[in-house]
Amino acid sequence: MSEPKKRFIAGAVCPACSAQDTIKMWDEDGTPHRECVACGYADTLNAQGQSVPREIGTRVNQAVAKPAASKGQTVQFFPNPKLKK
Ligand SMILES: [Zn+2]
Repeated sequence: MSEPKKRFIAGAVCPACSAQDTIKMWDEDGTPHRECVACGYADTLNAQGQSVPREIGTRVNQAVAKPAASKGQTVQFFPNPKLKK
């Protein structure tokens, strides 16, 4: 396994934090990847050269799932007349 060569893109501006010269770019399996070292934003470029934002690990997924879980719990707090005997 060889580490992909990451190189900074001169003049590139991060779409997330607008910082300049913080974008690193590398190639994985023929797909260009970008990453901002300032804010951690990362995306890939699809075949059309369009930016496809990448979710960072499972932390993002868990953060998104959290509100949904509490929402479900809130629903359970409502008394359900059908459960009363
Ligand atoms: Zn950034």
